[in-house]
Amino acid sequence: MRVLISGAGIAGPTLGYWLERRGFEVSMIEKAPALRTKEEESRR
Ligand SMILES: Cc1cc2nc3c(=O)[nH]c(=O)nc-3n(C[C@H](O)[C@H](O)[C@H](O)COP(=O)(O)OP(=O)(O)OC[C@H]3O[C@@H](n4cnc5c(N)ncnc54)[C@H](O)[C@@H]3O)c2cc1C
Repeated sequence: MRVLISGAGIAGPTLGYWLERRGFEVSMIEKAPALRTKEEESRR
């Protein structure tokens, strides 16, 4: 089964890892253009 995960924070890749281990075919999309910086985190 194919799964699409929306969001590559900590939860998305963690879920993707475990789903892949269970045999799912995982794709992931992320709206942010780049990795978050510490400064961006403090503005959330
Ligand atoms: C101000 C602040 C400071 C924090 N400081 C700390 C700290 O010092 N230490 C700590 O352990 N935790 C800290 N946290 C908590 C930590 O950031 C969260 O617990 C953690 O990031 C949650 O992970 P998540 O994957 O659930 O969500 P997020 O990290 O929010 O990831 C969600 C991802 O989904 C993406 N996304 C959203 N909508 C879409 C869409 N429609 N399509 C595609 N992608 C999408 C976002 O761009 C984001 O990358 C802080 C939180 C805040 C708000």
